[in-house]
Amino acid sequence: MSDKKLKILFVSAEISPFAKTGGLADVAGSLPKALAALGHDVRAVMPRYRQVKGDFEYVTDFAVQLDTWSETCIIRKTEVPYKAGERKKKLTVYFADSYRYFDRDGIYGHFDDADRFAFFCRAVLDMLPKLGFKPDIIHCNDWHTGPVCMLLKEQYAHDEFYSGMSTIYTIHNLEYQGNFSSYAVRLLNLGYDVFTAEKAEFYGMFSFMKTGLVYSDIINTVSEVYAREIQTPQYGERLDGLLKSRSEDLFGILNGINYDEFNPQTDKTIARNFDATNYKNKKENKYALQVEMGLPAGDVPVIGLISRLSGQKGLNLLIDRIDEFLSKDIQFVLLGTGDDYYQDQFRRIANDYPGKIAICLGFNGSLAQKIYAGSDMFLMPSRFEPCGLGQIISLRYGTIPVVRATGGLAETVTDYDSDNVRGNGFSFNNFSADEMLDAINRALKVYNEKPEEWDKLIVRALETDYSWNRSAKKYEELYMHAIRKKTANAIRKKTAK
Ligand code: ADP
Repeated sequence: MSDKKLKILFVSAEISPFAKTGGLADVAGSLPKALAALGHDVRAVMPRYRQVKGDFEYVTDFAVQLDTWSETCIIRKTEVPYKAGERKKKLTVYFADSYRYFDRDGIYGHFDDADRFAFFCRAVLDMLPKLGFKPDIIHCNDWHTGPVCMLLKEQYAHDEFYSGMSTIYTIHNLEYQGNFSSYAVRLLNLGYDVFTAEKAEFYGMFSFMKTGLVYSDIINTVSEVYAREIQTPQYGERLDGLLKSRSEDLFGILNGINYDEFNPQTDKTIARNFDATNYKNKKENKYALQVEMGLPAGDVPVIGLISRLSGQKGLNLLIDRIDEFLSKDIQFVLLGTGDDYYQDQFRRIANDYPGKIAICLGFNGSLAQKIYAGSDMFLMPSRFEPCGLGQIISLRYGTIPVVRATGGLAETVTDYDSDNVRGNGFSFNNFSADEMLDAINRALKVYNEKPEEWDKLIVRALETDYSWNRSAKKYEELYMHAIRKKTANAIRKKTAK
């Protein structure tokens, strides 16, 4: 660890527990705390959507310039408790509030998302002098925040206050790109000279994702495997060429989870607490889950799945072969929300197989905990998976993951049949229903025929450490790298003059 105490601003469209649709919120809710615990001055900022409830402290307000008009932004803040070792500390989270753009239901998918996030990006930079906070690092996340990197270089860095700031841009999911009409240029209050293939233009659209990739000092993504994958046409979402051209600045750091918040020993939402020394108590969570979900309680293996219901998650592998899957002696519990197509499919399947499958179509944090704790196996047959937190949370709860070996899933789950000493789950390589069913069969075989081996798997899962300890230190190194790079570039520019 370096001795330098950094000032870091973490910018995200979602931060748990205030607003969450997926893993981005988990990371934004836990990584800043882990970095602050290392001694840095970290603050986070997100929009204040209607669902973000709380009596937050007013900090400041100002006008944000968008095209020909301006909108008022009110900055409020709250202090979120966290633990640094045994010490209790607090992290400042700012909320950018706009009656016009954020006081409505839902987080994304509005007709004016370009306006909303252009406003947010400008507001983030505009608020800094008002707060008297001059970060060394602005850490942006996913498309909603890409233009922060662009605005900084194209506009704000001409002002002395901003000139020393470095940007890191983390890709949590390359599929969601925020591609809008070229009018986004005006919304961001920039000139059309940025609407070129070298800068923000992407197949005729203005791409928020691309602005982050082009303008950030350092790019990273949430696993080393995904960092390699996105430089190929198969996973690159048409941005593989650009990513390859920046490969020297592109890194992969695996996500962690907050081991205090996800803790089977202390989790108040689950029926019975447990850890590696009394893991047999885990079973009681299974019986409680079966009862709650209306399934017959018993020792039959329970397979859980918690997911956004989208094409990424490989659910068609399951739907296409559902008869074969449910003909096994198992129960299946699904919690998810998303595309209507998948919701309809799973509603139909639940009707066809009462007593075998239980579904909950919605977003439900406490039910998620009960499924992580109560299931025997956790299924993630993803088409691609930048990191994946589901498998990490399930390992934390001694639930054995069955996954497709892609992205972060390949990095965190070792197949038991390939390595029965270090194996902590079951995985398959190709995106194929046959291979998925084979992996499930292999897991069931160990569960049914080698219970002592299954117990070892549970203990190994419970003892695996995917807390932020390691990864937060890697981010710290990456920040230092970004700062060094920026300083070297500045010197190079000066001497070239
Ligand atoms: P992604 O970010 O692609 O959605 P991840 O596996 O990285 O996938 O993270 C998903 C996170 O969201 C996990 O914490 C998971 O438990 C949670 N989650 C997903 N769907 C639901 C849901 N319907 N209800 C509660 N939690 C959910």
